[in-house]
Amino acid sequence: MEKYNLKKEEQLGMSSGKANAILKKGIMFMLIQKCNMDTCYRCGEKIETVDELSIDHMENWLDSDFPQELYFDLDNISFSHYSCNIDARRRTPRKPTYTKEEMKERNRERMRKVRSTDKYKEKMNLYMRSRKEDPEFRKKYNETSKRSYYKNKEEIK
Ligand SMILES: [Zn+2]
Repeated sequence: MEKYNLKKEEQLGMSSGKANAILKKGIMFMLIQKCNMDTCYRCGEKIETVDELSIDHMENWLDSDFPQELYFDLDNISFSHYSCNIDARRRTPRKPTYTKEEMKERNRERMRKVRSTDKYKEKMNLYMRSRKEDPEFRKKYNETSKRSYYKNKEEIK
């Protein structure tokens, strides 16, 4: 498997993760065009090439009260020119940032509330399916999901 991956990366001239991301973005752009969704959410002009395309969060997730939920919420996703997205980000005043510990505690608190909802589970399933190819990520995910699975079982009892 290791050898196969090396061969792949050698022939593609980049990591297979990067190649995979480029391919997926290309497929996504093709589908965006077919669905006539290739209009920039920020400026209203057409997005002509895949290089211009950015996935845009309409409501800024970074430093928000619900970063994970806003990040993965497909209803919060729009498409825009990369440059329009960057411009908007520069104009948005940053909220005061929290310390790492405060941020962790806020996340924990929030995750306790949302983890049990079906909407969240469905979204995470979709996301995890898309990350399946990344072995490092899978390893980490398996460890944490096992922990929360047994924890949930405890709570049901
Ligand atoms: Zn634009």
